[in-house]
Amino acid sequence: MAREFLTQPKCRIGVMLLVAALLIASLPATVRADGDEALGSEPQPRQPAVIEGAANWLIGEMNFQGEFPDGMTFEIKAASDAGAIVNARVVWTHAPGNNTRRSRGASLNEETGRWVAEWPHNRGDVPPWVLVRYRWELTDEYGNRYISAEQDEVYADASNASRWRSAASDEVVVYWIDLPDEFGEETIAAMAAQRDFYHQAWGGLLPYRPRVILYGNAARAEYEEALGRQAAAGGGITTGTTDDDWGGTIQYALFGDTAHDLAYGTVLHEIAHLYQGEFAQLPVGWFIEGNAEFFSLARSTDYRAWGRQRLLSDDPLSFAHGFSIRGRTFRDGYQLGATVFDYLVETYGLDAHRQVWELIGRNVPSLEAIERVTGLTIDQFEMDWRRWMGVDGLPPTLMPSPTPVFDPFSFPTPTYAAPGG
Ligand SMILES: [Zn+2]
Repeated sequence: MAREFLTQPKCRIGVMLLVAALLIASLPATVRADGDEALGSEPQPRQPAVIEGAANWLIGEMNFQGEFPDGMTFEIKAASDAGAIVNARVVWTHAPGNNTRRSRGASLNEETGRWVAEWPHNRGDVPPWVLVRYRWELTDEYGNRYISAEQDEVYADASNASRWRSAASDEVVVYWIDLPDEFGEETIAAMAAQRDFYHQAWGGLLPYRPRVILYGNAARAEYEEALGRQAAAGGGITTGTTDDDWGGTIQYALFGDTAHDLAYGTVLHEIAHLYQGEFAQLPVGWFIEGNAEFFSLARSTDYRAWGRQRLLSDDPLSFAHGFSIRGRTFRDGYQLGATVFDYLVETYGLDAHRQVWELIGRNVPSLEAIERVTGLTIDQFEMDWRRWMGVDGLPPTLMPSPTPVFDPFSFPTPTYAAPGG
């Protein structure tokens, strides 16, 4: 789900007019120079404390120390009046409501009398500024249990705090470094503009507020530290990555990336990947990338007209062959793929999108899900889509498939992170 490096000039006059109207209609959220917005406004309420068994629990101070990239330390002072605590662990999530959990066992520090759990940072695990919603689970020697109320904290990049800026709305928490405030403001506006469309297309909003973390060109070192590796590899550059494990996306704004392109294009595409992750973890391919691109509000060209030319070319482009998401022809997967969803939704309605993904969430293969929702065979659906694209001939499905000409060293070569990474 990494972002490709696009070099084509982009035509976005029509969308810019729309953006201007939206910006007038909705003032951007307050921009701040610290990370406090990440606290307190998650859609999922924090769970209260739970006591199991007959013991009375004395709970003292709870501490959290988390500073990117040094890891996190959790501490609690606690006692059961029934017997000694024999097991203590802390359980946390970065995306409340999406069921991903991390946990660490704690050990007792005899000097301070505190239970201490440590999470050592691994490169690329999580970026800075993720939410940390955690609770303690304590068990005494008689099996009595105390589960603390959930607490919200932030894994902050304190050493660069003066360079970071942040803003938040009901839809998103955004942080940016070495970029104009416009990048944060446009992200807030883009997420507001797409809110109702996401809601209907997915049958609901994400259970958590995603984190969008944006790096300017001068923050290359900080970006690579969050990415966990060099951005440049194999002649391409990884300009971002998205992960529903920690519920967000990090993006590196190269020279030439406008705030509008990044917010209305890349961010809305990447947020769609987070929605996909709520239903299933599918192998990354044209269905996934085309579906995410369907949610972009800053398309670089008219995909239907562009796609028609591609379908009229000699390249074997069909559902059966698949559309490339890599190398010289990577736009096929993104842009042709997006038109498949354009066609589905224009013809069968936005609810059809939700129905397809609900089926995928129940392990129905993606193209079979389209068959069930449309009532057509996938061959018929594909022919209908081709006709809608302005192409009458049959897809080259039944022809012997020549190996497409592919030069991995041609420029630009997008570089991709591992799925979900
Ligand atoms: Zn993508």
